Amino acid sequence: MPHRLLRFGLSRKHPEPRMFTRHENLKPAYDVVIIGAGGHGLACAYYLARDHGIRNVAVLERGYLGGGNTGRNTTIIRSNYLTPEGVKFYDESVRLWQDLAVDFDLNLFYSTRGHFTLAHTDSAMRTMRWRAEVNKHFGVRSEAVDAAFVKRAIPMMDMQCAGHAPIVGALFHEPGAIARHDAVAWGYGRGADRRGVEIHQQCEVTGIRTRGGRVEGVDTTRGPIATQRVLCAVAGFTPRLLDMVGLHTPISIHPLQAMVSEPLKPWLDPIIVSGSLHVYVSQTARGELVMGASLDPYELHSTRSTLEFAEGLASHMIDLFPFLGEVKVNRQWAGLADMTPDFAPIMGTTPLEGFFLDAGWGTWGFKAMPVCGKTMSHTVATGRNHALIEGFAIDRFEHYRLTGEKGAASVGH
Ligand SMILES: Cc1cc2nc3c(=O)[nH]c(=O)nc-3n(C[C@H](O)[C@H](O)[C@H](O)COP(=O)(O)OP(=O)(O)OC[C@H]3O[C@@H](n4cnc5c(N)ncnc54)[C@H](O)[C@@H]3O)c2cc1C
Repeated sequence: MPHRLLRFGLSRKHPEPRMFTRHENLKPAYDVVIIGAGGHGLACAYYLARDHGIRNVAVLERGYLGGGNTGRNTTIIRSNYLTPEGVKFYDESVRLWQDLAVDFDLNLFYSTRGHFTLAHTDSAMRTMRWRAEVNKHFGVRSEAVDAAFVKRAIPMMDMQCAGHAPIVGALFHEPGAIARHDAVAWGYGRGADRRGVEIHQQCEVTGIRTRGGRVEGVDTTRGPIATQRVLCAVAGFTPRLLDMVGLHTPISIHPLQAMVSEPLKPWLDPIIVSGSLHVYVSQTARGELVMGASLDPYELHSTRSTLEFAEGLASHMIDLFPFLGEVKVNRQWAGLADMTPDFAPIMGTTPLEGFFLDAGWGTWGFKAMPVCGKTMSHTVATGRNHALIEGFAIDRFEHYRLTGEKGAASVGH
């Protein structure tokens, strides 16, 4: 019998250390309340405590830590966006990802794979060149490559896509990576917890109290809390929370589904995305293929899975990789994507003093967790938007100053 099992299992003197402290009761007041224990809320709590010395913080979660989109995504990390605002922002995130496992003392299974966005038409190829040039301008390693380059990197791919969508080239983004999503939430959660932040699971915010245009506190299923600063980081629940304070954004909620295959021997190193076929896929260290497609085309607040999605995605996967015909799908699931019209997030201060927003992360917010934590903690601590998030302010819709990322964010994640 393993020594560890004997030591911890049979002796009360050596309890297995818990990942997080369990707090029975809420305090009557906190300096900051963060709504949502997904990667975004937890990252902000971590950097508030670590970089700004603000530790009297409560993170409130209606379900369980990482149980929202953080634990449901397909973990693609990249910075090959289209707008200068987007490229600079996501590039900083990719930089922060490099040191995260050491910061947390926790293996995040961060794995740099290279990311191909396939082009099936000449006009798609033109967009790839455009993205490559914007990326290079900001020092991000991306290049437009031809079909022969793609074939060499992914020899198993049918370059004709069953004859109806031949691949003419791609955008190749060398830093493209994947990581273990729940470990990221645990890492930020544990790091925040060790610095004095309280994480309260099974604690839903049911109301936000305001007076004279500023925040005074929140009501929860476990009682009221007084606070002058609230960060709302609730992804698919954003419209419900904003209704509580009378703020409105053009966010709409669409289900986003994904599925995973049985484990296979390693054969796919890079991450593959095809906007035309509505497919993205990577292979995990365990050998499973993690696959996703576009949003469900209707607004819905539900995480049910549909056969239509599985059939559509499987048929496009087989167009690309015909030998997968007999492979089994092990699991399928969905998350609630908070979509903005310009496919960029909404971040920063709001017209309500003391109320901060980190939302509109739709299908692309996993990669941004480190940079969101950094920039939102700065914004909450100082009351001023961090320079890197100026392009994502809530008032851009009012002034028609959109940050159009659709060409880089709609399927690629
Ligand atoms: C299928 C799928 C695939 C994706 N793939 C990628 C990808 O490859 N790359 C990428 O970068 N992004 C991807 N994303 C997007 C990414 O997952 C999200 O943008 C990101 O996880 C958002 O994190 P969050 O912390 O803001 O939200 P969440 O993780 O959803 O956390 C919000 C939390 O708020 C809680 N909450 C809600 N209301 C309340 C309340 N009233 N009181 C208390 N708590 C509340 C919820 O329970 C939830 O746990 C994908 C998303 C999905 C669904």
